Amino acid sequence: MYSYECMKCQLTSPPSLRRSRAEEIGAVHRDRAHEGMHPKGESILIDSARIPQGREWRPVLFVVAIILAALLSKVF
Ligand SMILES: [Zn+2]
Repeated sequence: MYSYECMKCQLTSPPSLRRSRAEEIGAVHRDRAHEGMHPKGESILIDSARIPQGREWRPVLFVVAIILAALLSKVF
C-alpha cells in the first residue's frame, strides 16, 4: 500500500494499492497547497504489511481471476 505524505502540512493520504495513485494525489496536493512547488519532507510511504480493506480487494481479485482463467484454459 502506498500513501503520499506532506510533512509541511502534517497530512498523509489514504492508502492506495498503486504507487502511481499516491503520486497523483501528491501532485494534486502540491498544485493546490503549494502552488506546484515541492515542499520539504514530502514522500511516498510504503506499507507492505497492511492488508487491503473493502473495495481495495477488487484489483487483487481481478488479477487472481485472470491467473485462474489462464490456468484453467491450459487444463481444459
Ligand atoms: Zn503540503
